[in-house]
Amino acid sequence: MAAGHSVDDYLETIYFLAFPIGEYRPDTKGSPTLAVRVADMLGVSRASAGEMLKRLEAEGLVERGEHKEAILTEQGRAQAERVVRRHRIIERLLTDFMGYTPAEAHEQADLLGNTFTDDMVERIEAQLGKPDRCPHGWPVDTDFEQAENRELQPLSDLSAGSEAEIVRLAEHDGDLLHWYYDEGLVPGTRIEVREADGGELTLSVDGDERPLDEKQAAGLFVRAS
Ligand SMILES: [Zn+2]
Repeated sequence: MAAGHSVDDYLETIYFLAFPIGEYRPDTKGSPTLAVRVADMLGVSRASAGEMLKRLEAEGLVERGEHKEAILTEQGRAQAERVVRRHRIIERLLTDFMGYTPAEAHEQADLLGNTFTDDMVERIEAQLGKPDRCPHGWPVDTDFEQAENRELQPLSDLSAGSEAEIVRLAEHDGDLLHWYYDEGLVPGTRIEVREADGGELTLSVDGDERPLDEKQAAGLFVRAS
């Protein structure tokens, strides 16, 4: 996805950044930082992201907090939760019913965007047997997702000797998502950290050692054991 991101795309990105796992709370970061991070995640210019944040603010979806940071309003958060929920259900439609691989499903779901009405999404969810998670481990129920965030951390935070299970994969970077599947780093995989050096890691997976750079490690959300 290059140009032409919708309000929903931005809300989804801000939601991801606002409910991080083992990361910052937005109240310690200023809005320029949010604009920069949103721009990086969506692959747009910082100016475009700044413009869109202003528009979201004008529409009452984002507001400025005490320290001028951009945070989702109640309305913005509700809409973001609807967007991510729909995305996760549609991904399961693509994998479970249409035969797409999990690595393909994210991009295809983005292409569908708003194709289905809320009622259709509810029916699809029921027909799929109410799946708990998207193919990449993200819970369909956003309340459960936010509660579970407290139990998870990015793999890049673990130290040498830690053992963990992969629970969720960051999915906004299509190439990275494909790489996780090529490497077998998928939800449910047990891993052990052999070496850790400033975010770069060497993992042991089923007895195989493999190096991960910081970006690769930061996109894997794990439950340490
Ligand atoms: Zn997903």
